[in-house]
Amino acid sequence: MTLGRQIEGLQRNDRKQFRRRLLAWYGAYRRDLPWRANRDPYRVWLSEIMLQQTRVAAVIEHYQEFLRRFPTMEKLAAAREASVLAAWSGLGYYRRARMLHATAKVVAREYGGKFPKTAEAWRALPGVGRYTAAAIASIAFDEPVAAIDGNVERVLQRVSGKRLAGERLWQGANDLLDAKRPGDFNQAMMELGAVVCTPRTPACLTCPVIELCVTRGELAATTKPARQKRREIQYALDHRDGEVFLIRRPSDASLMPGMWELPELVHPNGGSSPSFTLRHSITVTDYTVRVWHAAAPGRFAGKWIPQERLRRVALTGLARKILRKAEML
Ligand code: SF4
Repeated sequence: MTLGRQIEGLQRNDRKQFRRRLLAWYGAYRRDLPWRANRDPYRVWLSEIMLQQTRVAAVIEHYQEFLRRFPTMEKLAAAREASVLAAWSGLGYYRRARMLHATAKVVAREYGGKFPKTAEAWRALPGVGRYTAAAIASIAFDEPVAAIDGNVERVLQRVSGKRLAGERLWQGANDLLDAKRPGDFNQAMMELGAVVCTPRTPACLTCPVIELCVTRGELAATTKPARQKRREIQYALDHRDGEVFLIRRPSDASLMPGMWELPELVHPNGGSSPSFTLRHSITVTDYTVRVWHAAAPGRFAGKWIPQERLRRVALTGLARKILRKAEML
């Protein structure tokens, strides 16, 4: 039994199983974190902003102290910015502290001191993105919306075996969400990604949803097609009295050893034009091949080969192409 082709295509029973197992695991093994003590929206919001870009351990150190100095949203709204930044000290990314302060003022002034209850309304507040809005609305107000952070994205991709992204990812997450316990479900997904389904070497053998997971390990990296390189190369086509001058590749060459080819020109005649040009691709390189009717440079020890024998000579693919274009083959 696996979660199948893609999250949005999951069988209803599989989704039910997934929720049940994940929530049971979360109930038994979840970490005892200070912001999980209750569902007060001020505390949930504060923890979600602090956890953006900061490790759990560092947030634990600062969370309680911040709450001691600003125990309520009203106290935070009334504080001077310098005091808020001082309390934030050590967490970094001070823009978050300024946004937090700005939101507290907006809620105190424009919302009559009451936090909004939906993710959509939260998104209108400073510094609150789609993930944070969904996390707060689901945890503090039970709104059935999925929250996707990096951990949840990784779990969903591994479970489905697909690199879901964008709206498909959000749709898949919402399909899987436990609508009766959205806050716990979202936290359980994040917890699973943080402690079991980790970026490197996930602990699949201890995973509560292993039987429903397609990947059961790291999802194979998508290999990007190698970028084609471009190169220009010049050859001398030395053709006299019905014979062509060819050279033989070294017998220890890594590519096409012992085969015959035209001598390469490092410095073709400046100013003049090649006799003809063609294109040739080898693995990741696209060559522009310029061919000159010219005498082969003296440094090459080659052989004059009668034109009528060319068909029986082991030519490289490129040499064959050039000789065909020159109508010698
Ligand atoms: Fe992640 Fe492994 Fe669990 Fe799948 S089985 S969700 S890969 S920990």
